[in-house]
Amino acid sequence: MQGLMMDQPLLVSSLLRHAERHHGSQEIVSRRVEGDIHRYAYRDMAARSRCLANALGSLNVAPGTVVGTLAWNGYRHLELYFAVSGTGAVLHTLNPRLHPDQLAWIANHAEDQVLFFDLTFLPILESIAPRLKTVTTFVAMTDRAHMPASTTLPNVVCYEDLVDAHDDRYEWPVFDENTASSLCYTSGTTGDPKGVLYSHRSTLLHTYGAALPDFHNLSARDVVLPVVPMFHVNAWGLPYTASMVGAKLVFPGAALDGKSLYELFEAERATFTCGVPTVWQALLAHVEQHGLKFHHLKRVGIGGSACPPAMLASFERGHGIDVMHGWGMTETSPLCSASTLKLQHDGMDLDQQLHVKAKQGRVLFGVDMKITDDAGADLPWDGQTSGNLVVRGPWVLNRYFKNTENSPLQDGWFPTGDVASIDPEGYMQITDRSKDVIKSGGEWIGSIDLENVAMSHPAVDMAACIGVPHPKWDERPLLVVQCKPGKAVSRDELLAFYAGKIAKWWTPDDVVFVERIPLGTTGKMLKSQLRDQFRSHRLPTV
Ligand code: AMP
Repeated sequence: MQGLMMDQPLLVSSLLRHAERHHGSQEIVSRRVEGDIHRYAYRDMAARSRCLANALGSLNVAPGTVVGTLAWNGYRHLELYFAVSGTGAVLHTLNPRLHPDQLAWIANHAEDQVLFFDLTFLPILESIAPRLKTVTTFVAMTDRAHMPASTTLPNVVCYEDLVDAHDDRYEWPVFDENTASSLCYTSGTTGDPKGVLYSHRSTLLHTYGAALPDFHNLSARDVVLPVVPMFHVNAWGLPYTASMVGAKLVFPGAALDGKSLYELFEAERATFTCGVPTVWQALLAHVEQHGLKFHHLKRVGIGGSACPPAMLASFERGHGIDVMHGWGMTETSPLCSASTLKLQHDGMDLDQQLHVKAKQGRVLFGVDMKITDDAGADLPWDGQTSGNLVVRGPWVLNRYFKNTENSPLQDGWFPTGDVASIDPEGYMQITDRSKDVIKSGGEWIGSIDLENVAMSHPAVDMAACIGVPHPKWDERPLLVVQCKPGKAVSRDELLAFYAGKIAKWWTPDDVVFVERIPLGTTGKMLKSQLRDQFRSHRLPTV
């Protein structure tokens, strides 16, 4: 028997319509690349998105056309999120931190037809424009007064002129919810970039899930400041989630240093933010150096790479801020799990609670996860056994963009390339990556644990643990360390620091000190580069 409920497709435009009708006066604040602060309300954003939808039509953007953006977090980018997807076209957020060669490759692979850009990125675009095969129009996301006096870019249009020239009467079309809405390429830490094409349905379901209390826990009383870039997995869904719940949105633009972020958090009374650990390191250093306090910030979402326990303690113990440590991937929209506590954790002391929160957490309904051995057999959830982490769900990738032949799925599950354990309560803990892993004598060594211990040493700024070839054990861990400015620690002191904190056989065999640990475009340590650099490092024979 068929259900008798209304058949309304889940479309990105419905979020915008809802925000306009029910939260029309809620503010959206942006620090602009032009240097000032811009403020308006959701109802203004919705009206301008409709102008933009008409403008896209004038640029021959049709359903299915791919529209690229090279932009910071800001209100114009938000308008594009809604206008492009709302018309049935595909929003492709390019990561400006990629190498220009990679950017050109990605824009060509995606077949971007129109490219919207923040002025900051004009030089990059000028350098790659001759290689862009499909882009017909470039749109500078600024007003007439700030348009570049001259540029080698062909066909440059001014964003505000486009919006001004078009009417705000526009009916968002209704179409199949499985239509593509946005496209994001994986960060490329390993291998070539691969495109992940999200649908309206996957985006809306992810948005419902993300807003739940045990995840981003967002409501109309929140002030959301997305530090995670809108070019990195749709800022973990925050533009959509904030619109769904009617939260105030605050965009930091290009100013992501500790001082600028702190000032914006305070001035706009931000209650919730999300970002990768490297950003928080800079923010916490600024706050601690100047003896500052957070007066409004209640919760911080940390993910993208493991949240070091020292950072967790600093937020929770030092500032009374609730950390939501989450795990996800570009391929999973990204949110899959978060380490929020259950009722039974209430009686624990803070140290025990932080131990739970340091894990990557339990799944969000909609996603399922398990760990398997190399033959694909399920492994026990005992909190000890590590295996390959696989996930599935309606916002998990089925196939990569333009790759219809090879499905990455194994028995219907997506292999994440992460290695994890799961405890009896369902809390998953990443112990390593199979794509970036240390296996010694047939046993996993948790490089993340080794890095966390090193990073809790007062002289250590950043530490990466990599496997280097060893004649007996196949691989042994080598610790690569970047010290804090003006601080030092010796190899032997650092190795002694591990005593009692980990299984003895996990202790790194050697330490090398480097000026800078290389970081990828999303702030993650480029261990592949370090592995290449230290492949022939001679470990001391003990
Ligand atoms: P990306 O697609 O660039 O977001 O990278 C996803 C990968 O980042 C995952 O497969 C993990 O290896 C890593 N990652 C994301 N979140 C975490 C986390 N909380 N802890 C450890 N690794 C993480």
